[in-house]
Amino acid sequence: MESRVQQLHIMFFPHLSHGHMIPTIDMARVFARHGVKVTIISSPLNAPLISEILEKDKQIGLEIGIRIIKFPSAEAGLPEGCENLASTTSPQMFNNFFKALSLLQQPLEEILEECRPNCLVADTAFPWATEVAAKFGIPRLIFHGTSYFAICAFLCILRYEPHKNTVSDSEYFTLLGLPDHIQMTKLQQPSYFNGVDDEQKKMADLSVQSEVTSYGVLGNSFKELEPAYSEHYRNVLGRKAWNVGPVSLCNKEIEEKSLRGKAASIDTHECLKWLDSKQPNSVLYISFGSKYKFPHAQLLEIAKGLEAAGQDFIWVIKNEDKDELLEEFEQRITKNKKGLIIKGWAPQVLILENEAVGGFMTHCGWNSVLESISNGVPMIIWPLYAEQFYNEKLVTQILKAGVSVGAKECSRSIDAKKISVKKEDIEKSMKRLMVGEEGEEIKRRAKELKEMARRAVEEGGSSYSDIRDFLEEMRANFG
Ligand code: UDP
Repeated sequence: MESRVQQLHIMFFPHLSHGHMIPTIDMARVFARHGVKVTIISSPLNAPLISEILEKDKQIGLEIGIRIIKFPSAEAGLPEGCENLASTTSPQMFNNFFKALSLLQQPLEEILEECRPNCLVADTAFPWATEVAAKFGIPRLIFHGTSYFAICAFLCILRYEPHKNTVSDSEYFTLLGLPDHIQMTKLQQPSYFNGVDDEQKKMADLSVQSEVTSYGVLGNSFKELEPAYSEHYRNVLGRKAWNVGPVSLCNKEIEEKSLRGKAASIDTHECLKWLDSKQPNSVLYISFGSKYKFPHAQLLEIAKGLEAAGQDFIWVIKNEDKDELLEEFEQRITKNKKGLIIKGWAPQVLILENEAVGGFMTHCGWNSVLESISNGVPMIIWPLYAEQFYNEKLVTQILKAGVSVGAKECSRSIDAKKISVKKEDIEKSMKRLMVGEEGEEIKRRAKELKEMARRAVEEGGSSYSDIRDFLEEMRANFG
């Protein structure tokens, strides 16, 4: 560990959404293991979600702490207690949440004034953080929380506007300027390109601008995973970037894995015992991230698909309200031991690393993709919103580590209203991955990627070396 005199102090400012908070905390913990003092900024209700895991790090001598920032819920028109994007329940609340984030500029300045770190790593959700950091003469690094592929695809569409030449929303257009021949439709694009949400578009524009003025980007990815795209990002788009992932691999012990994000809504040992009673590679894990809620009709369609495919499964459901037909389904599958339903929060990383798990039906949120890859689990891709249709292209077409379920349209909110995939397609995709010949090659590829991921974070690996290079540059210029 480096001496106190030279010790770098890096401040992390994560977006208050699980999909961004979780990897930022992991990243901060990775940096602390490299001898850096780290401070994580969080809000009163989010801080308890991370304090227990950080206490354990402190006990082994790491310099890691939290600074609380007051979250302006009331000022932004949000109900008291709404401090995480997952607590928003309507598009209006969603937009108000981003308004609240924009009010954190002044409090951030006060924290920087008091703590005087050497460097600020702030989420892309805080485009103004670059200017705030500049006031204190320190560099601002951006954390996007997604793949280089998705960022490059987004920037290419922004630059060349190929979607403007299509006559219908379902006509394919080519993403010009990318290293591979990628085709997509307008329906698959995030709301940004469909002009339906001005507030979110404004936010995204500011983020893109701040990328140009920031010092660089820390990517939760690794060189061997998407080499053409991390190079494209650096050399063609001209950004400075370091790969630091997959950061979830910093969690080694069962306890830290089960504390990740939130406390699990199921007894972790019971869940693992259930998995241990199953054959290797026989269980499909189904989860759509930290916040997405399906309409009940879609949940029933999934249930029918599962029963038709006959596959053992663990299914995570975020909906809180009850449904009679779904309860009957749950009783049936509990009785015949075919499945386990987790209502609320699942210990995802522990599930994915269990050898009984042979597939992951995922919405293609970037953390889920990386966690699947890090554990050699092939995927069934069901993209829902944001940049997930881009990640689908990366996983199915370039990495060849998954099959598509056939979703066609990017949702405008995290609370869907209609059925987007039918029972037949759900069943077909499960059979393709879990039992078909096609699945064998995809499984082999997933195992290969797992080895690459694990090597990348070991001493001497590509991400390990990128972190060392980054810290050296920070010490030389700002230490
Ligand atoms: N996660 C979890 N349990 C759950 C749901 C999500 O541990 O029940 C974690 C998951 O492991 C991942 C993150 O939450 O680290 C979700 O991030 P992702 O990018 O996959 O999706 P998002 O929630 O941002 O859409």
